[in-house]
Amino acid sequence: MDKYDSLVIGGGIAGIQASLDLAEQGYRVLLVEKQASIGGTMIQLSKVFPTLDCASCITTPKMSAVMSHPNIEVKTLAEVVQVRQIKDHFEVNLLQRPRYVNIDACTGCGDCEEACPVIIYDEGYNEGLGPKKAVGVPFATALPQKAVLDDDHCIFCGKCARACPTDAIDFSQREEKLSVKARSIIIATGFLQTPTIKEEYGGGKYKNVITGKQMDRILAPTSPFGGVFRPSDGKIPDSIAFVQCAGSRDASIGVPYCSAICCMYAIKQATLLSAAVPLADITIYYMDIRTFGKNHEEFYQQAKAMGVNFVKGKVAKITEKTNGNLVLRVETFGEFGQIEEFEHDLVVLSLGLVPNWNPKNAIDVDTDTNGFIKMIKPTTNPTLTSLPGVFVAGTAAGPKDIVESIVSGSAAAMKVSEWLQGNLKDAFFSKELPIKSIIKG
Ligand SMILES: Cc1cc2nc3c(=O)[nH]c(=O)nc-3n(C[C@H](O)[C@H](O)[C@H](O)COP(=O)(O)OP(=O)(O)OC[C@H]3O[C@@H](n4cnc5c(N)ncnc54)[C@H](O)[C@@H]3O)c2cc1C
Ligand code: SF4
Ligand code: SF4
Repeated sequence: MDKYDSLVIGGGIAGIQASLDLAEQGYRVLLVEKQASIGGTMIQLSKVFPTLDCASCITTPKMSAVMSHPNIEVKTLAEVVQVRQIKDHFEVNLLQRPRYVNIDACTGCGDCEEACPVIIYDEGYNEGLGPKKAVGVPFATALPQKAVLDDDHCIFCGKCARACPTDAIDFSQREEKLSVKARSIIIATGFLQTPTIKEEYGGGKYKNVITGKQMDRILAPTSPFGGVFRPSDGKIPDSIAFVQCAGSRDASIGVPYCSAICCMYAIKQATLLSAAVPLADITIYYMDIRTFGKNHEEFYQQAKAMGVNFVKGKVAKITEKTNGNLVLRVETFGEFGQIEEFEHDLVVLSLGLVPNWNPKNAIDVDTDTNGFIKMIKPTTNPTLTSLPGVFVAGTAAGPKDIVESIVSGSAAAMKVSEWLQGNLKDAFFSKELPIKSIIKG
């Protein structure tokens, strides 16, 4: 059974950072990612607030560093099924799903993709907006840069296998159960966008009501549309609306908390749209704008100065017109609150963040009331979980932006290092000091 100093679950930016920091200290790391590529959400994004740096330009070097680091082993298409604590280590059962491609033989040339006759929606990287084939490298900057075959849609015609110059297509691959040993674990399983689109907002049926992640894909240099067009008819939008808190601060859909990043990503997208479609009116409907990070308030003020409209009000209902335009019924929050209607030709729902993984059947760690991994010492040691030797990083513990996810990835790596040196045992069992006594010393 292979043995590692640390198992990192989830290859988003938090898991990547934690793996790199541990590997640089000489520890042997196994990074397990359930998708075919590492990178998580960040590799799908256009640019990042508040600097508007290119997301892919920041993520790709870190992804490459992980893939080439001698102390890191990466398993993609793999998930943790069960973790058992045995004395000073964990025994971990993994499920390795088939890629149907021999990873050592594949050169990422793309000939299989060209030969494949099956075209499907790319529900992963392109959030359902673009097409893909049933086989191929998942996206241009995917790592590993290896093809993967989608057995849900493949018709097993064999054209890819005949086109492959290295005979890498392997239809005989099956799910495999693997077991490894790890002396510590970091959970960095990240988040999903709020999965429910409220019936009042069309319940996911209106083509020109899209999600925040879809707008980030549209704005990316690798946009599936090659520019800003609305999905129903390819029209360049004249009037774009953002609906804030569309999937947060709403107990009726099970997300009572603030998702912390949606205000900033909407302001980022509005800023990018001002440049991409300069003639379009852009309006953000909001209940509160929360810009508490470094340089975030300045970013908000800059968007206002660029002409983005901010309307304080709650969008109660969206209805679709026959031409695909949307009418927003808004309860505005002025001194004399009133109901008003506004028409737009494209609407972006700023959905929130929910946990991507329920650890219940796999590992004995507690979750909080919202299903995120519970931090047992949120004020003094925020990477500790209820199971000694298991740590949490990034949005697996709750909504965070990229900077906070990277910081928590590094923090978790530091705590694992202390744990491996035997210096942290007491921290899991001692009571967290009330903040007042810490300040007093
Ligand atoms: C539309 C949108 C725009 C955004 N724009 C910005 C921005 O401009 N600036 C900014 O700072 N932040 C932005 N964010 C937030 C940013 O995406 C997150 O802060 C960041 O991606 C969190 O990284 P993470 O590693 O915690 O999680 P993720 O990116 O979710 O990565 C988690 C990884 O774990 C994997 N995983 C999950 N479960 C398992 C499992 N059981 N086994 C193995 N692997 C698993 C997932 O497949 C995924 O690859 C935006 C978010 C959204 C939705
Ligand atoms: S599976 Fe073969 S054809 Fe497809 S990318 Fe890999 S080497 Fe190229
Ligand atoms: S076997 Fe499947 S993946 Fe390969 S070309 Fe045919 S449909 Fe495409």
